[in-house]
Amino acid sequence: MRRLVVVGGGISGLAAAWAASQAAPRMEGGLEVLVLERGGAVGGKASSIARDGWLVEEGPSGFLGGRPEMERLIDGIGLASERMPANRTSARRFLFRGGRIRQVDPNPVSLLREGILGPRGALRMLAEPFIAARRDDADESVWAFAARRLGAEVADRMILPMALGIFAGDARRLSLAAAFPRMAALEREHGSLTRGMIARRGRTSSGALTSFRCGMQQLPRALAERGGFAVRCGAEVRALLRTNVGWSVAVDGDAEVIPADAVILAGEPWAMAPLLQPHDPALAAELAAISCPPVAVVALGFGAAAAAQVPVGFGVLIARGEGFRMLGNLWETHLYHGRGPAGHVLVRAMFGGAVDPEAGALSEAELAALARGEIARLYGMMDAPVFEHVVRVPRAIPQYEIGHSARVARIADAIEALPGLSMTGNGLRGVAFADAASDGVRVGDAAVQQLRARVGCHPRAPLAAACHETIPRMVPP
Ligand SMILES: Cc1cc2nc3c(=O)[nH]c(=O)nc-3n(C[C@H](O)[C@H](O)[C@H](O)COP(=O)(O)OP(=O)(O)OC[C@H]3O[C@@H](n4cnc5c(N)ncnc54)[C@H](O)[C@@H]3O)c2cc1C
Repeated sequence: MRRLVVVGGGISGLAAAWAASQAAPRMEGGLEVLVLERGGAVGGKASSIARDGWLVEEGPSGFLGGRPEMERLIDGIGLASERMPANRTSARRFLFRGGRIRQVDPNPVSLLREGILGPRGALRMLAEPFIAARRDDADESVWAFAARRLGAEVADRMILPMALGIFAGDARRLSLAAAFPRMAALEREHGSLTRGMIARRGRTSSGALTSFRCGMQQLPRALAERGGFAVRCGAEVRALLRTNVGWSVAVDGDAEVIPADAVILAGEPWAMAPLLQPHDPALAAELAAISCPPVAVVALGFGAAAAAQVPVGFGVLIARGEGFRMLGNLWETHLYHGRGPAGHVLVRAMFGGAVDPEAGALSEAELAALARGEIARLYGMMDAPVFEHVVRVPRAIPQYEIGHSARVARIADAIEALPGLSMTGNGLRGVAFADAASDGVRVGDAAVQQLRARVGCHPRAPLAAACHETIPRMVPP
């Protein structure tokens, strides 16, 4: 029996464990897959709380469908019928700028009509197909790319808030190639975003926004329950030890040491750095350098009178300098059915991110008071919320800053030099939920192939006995 240990029970680790378990029956001698999760439940950032008739997402509220590995995972675990596509009205997106909420329809005429762009900004946007493509492959910020192709007004007024909405990040620091690789590819392959989008129309779909009936955590829970692998929650991996036949992971100090033929690291980059420090300090430093600012989510539920004040759609991004600390709001009850009592509205406000890391120091009570005041002011609401839920995520969303792709290439090389070890997670090759899940599936598949190819893997006793096995012989770091 060979053993694969996955460190981290977020979607990437569970997807990796699931993919590896699929191959287990074909593995000579068998394969045992074990996920070790530090927290009290699986799902990592995906955490769905059902309370008093409301369903609140503490982390992601949806994913974009259509990614092959993600679809394989959902079908494979039998959740296809539980998928919940977002309502059609979620196509309506809004921006708060110049003191009012404006609908964003990304064509220059509507942007001009809505007052999001001025005449010069709209004309400059129209000129995009005539702007020469950049031919070098130097890393460029998201803001610089947008300013070069679409004009500084679009970059300032639309791209800065958009980066806040997706990454809770600063478009001036985020790398286009790493954060929005499809945008970079449009310019590279078609010479222009407009021409690229026209050429690709009908050929590719950006995928529909989707969740599950019981929220985003339903997928991790289903994987843990029936994915064909073992999961242990409340099990923090404190050390990773190299042995003469593979690896061992020390759980909760040295209380327990679990030998493994292969290990997949699926925790956040900052959390995996200390585990790798004894084996490759440079690799650990690369992981620790991926910044992960705090985000706080405040969900407020309102009754019918206040609900009428909230526009129908996906939500609103709030430009900086408009007198609000919130980065934006998502209108959860408009996105999906069944997220609150009939006639009510659930507004999720985001704080923090790369532009306001100090928000991470606010208490739950301070955040709730801030959100109540700002939401009432934004929509002109008179009624107090009837429901409230606050969550603080101290290190929330990895920032793919300039140089991220080169950093990830160095990380991949360094991991490859440590046989039996692999790594996944949204800190590396895609920050969104479907990216993390897809990467997990790919890394799980690859880990099994490497295990198959490796000679000299020693059969092990099943885990119950193996947990107390002593480490054969340590290889000094
Ligand atoms: C507020 C917020 C909103 C978001 N909104 C969206 C959205 O709308 N759409 C979208 O696509 N994405 C969104 N995301 C991103 C999405 O949540 C992530 O892409 C995805 O959940 C990452 O999964 P992961 O498994 O890579 O990492 P995580 O979910 O971070 O999981 C890592 C796990 O590893 C565990 N771990 C770490 N160290 C150890 C250790 N030493 N031992 C054992 N376990 C360990 C952690 O406890 C954690 O459970 C959002 C994220 C946040 C924070």
